[in-house]
Amino acid sequence: MEKHSGHHSHPHHHHPHPHNHVVEGPTSRRDFLRVLMGGALAGASILELAWHRAAWASAAAPSSEPNLFDIQKVANGIYFARAHPQAMLNCNAAMFVRSRDVVVVDAHSVPSAAASLIGQMKREVTTKPVRYVINTHFHWDHTQGDHAYRLTGEKVDFIASAATKQLMANQAVARMKASVGEVPQEIDALHNQAAHATSAGEKAFCADQVRQLQAYQAELKHYTLELPTITFDKSYLLQDPAFDLHIEFHGHAHTAGDVVAYCPQERSVATGDVIHGFLPNIADGFPRLWPGTIDSIGAADFNTILPGHAALQTGRTEMINLRNYIEELTGKVEEGKKAGLTLVEMQKRITVASLKSLHSNGYEDYLARMSALSNSRYSKLPPLQTDVNANIADVYRNLDRT
Ligand SMILES: [Zn+2]
Ligand SMILES: [Zn+2]
Repeated sequence: MEKHSGHHSHPHHHHPHPHNHVVEGPTSRRDFLRVLMGGALAGASILELAWHRAAWASAAAPSSEPNLFDIQKVANGIYFARAHPQAMLNCNAAMFVRSRDVVVVDAHSVPSAAASLIGQMKREVTTKPVRYVINTHFHWDHTQGDHAYRLTGEKVDFIASAATKQLMANQAVARMKASVGEVPQEIDALHNQAAHATSAGEKAFCADQVRQLQAYQAELKHYTLELPTITFDKSYLLQDPAFDLHIEFHGHAHTAGDVVAYCPQERSVATGDVIHGFLPNIADGFPRLWPGTIDSIGAADFNTILPGHAALQTGRTEMINLRNYIEELTGKVEEGKKAGLTLVEMQKRITVASLKSLHSNGYEDYLARMSALSNSRYSKLPPLQTDVNANIADVYRNLDRT
């Protein structure tokens, strides 16, 4: 993916292994239809929906689509949905099941992915309706699926910081178009890979990736932007007999508007892309401020982090690794700028081997494990230095953002 559209450090998140969840019947025919239609009919009018509802009702068959997520229980009422690799990146989701409804954090790259999660949630977690969707930040892989929640027909509010609402209003459509605009060259690269494939498995992988990319392109021809309906500057409290959720802005970090969803009773926090298990994406980031924002989040009492990408985190090791990496890299770029080095010179000098933070607490090995978890063995992945170089370029450009 192009560097301003989200996650250039991890352009391909492929589906490495089949998942063998037992696909049970939907909780009701009505819910099942809603879920199917949420994906297939994003952007359709009420009349079209009514027509399709009738068509689906006569043709409904049990779902055979593979799940797009692994859902695991984290604490009482709290579930983590880890996104499987897809040609177009999906973020993870956090689900907070309250006394009468559900709060979901983040909504993936397309409405059909969010609809798939809604269906899986109903099969594996709860039939309670989703009342709130929190968008941790404005990036396409966290917001483009929002409309699926609207299409369920349940009352739903979208919660984000005021800064994120502004960024979505100004940039969401352009970012969506940029991501769709990169699809043709991705498809070319896959055709090229298929032509040189060394196994039937790799050929099949390429064909499936192309199919996913074309589906992404087709689905987003009918994009409906859901702007946040509830916004706040610093914090917003969702109270419930089950537990409280504190939705908090702790300062500039991955974007100007990142928020986390913190549950004190269950000592869990959903962090979006401020804290996750890949190298950071700093394209829209604030490199000098980000470590302090993580420190502010870390002042709260929690032992489980539900990140926007990669695996669930228990304890704080990975959070601290990420924090220290951003701080160290920023310091080195700052020194380089003072010494009058060009960007290219810095990218030659600031190597993976030279970064202490990558070699502390097993961070480099962890990053390799997260990459393996989030990609197919057939994915053409660049070496870690390529990702570090992208980070250096982004820090270089964004160094003085406050
Ligand atoms: Zn993301
Ligand atoms: Zn992001």
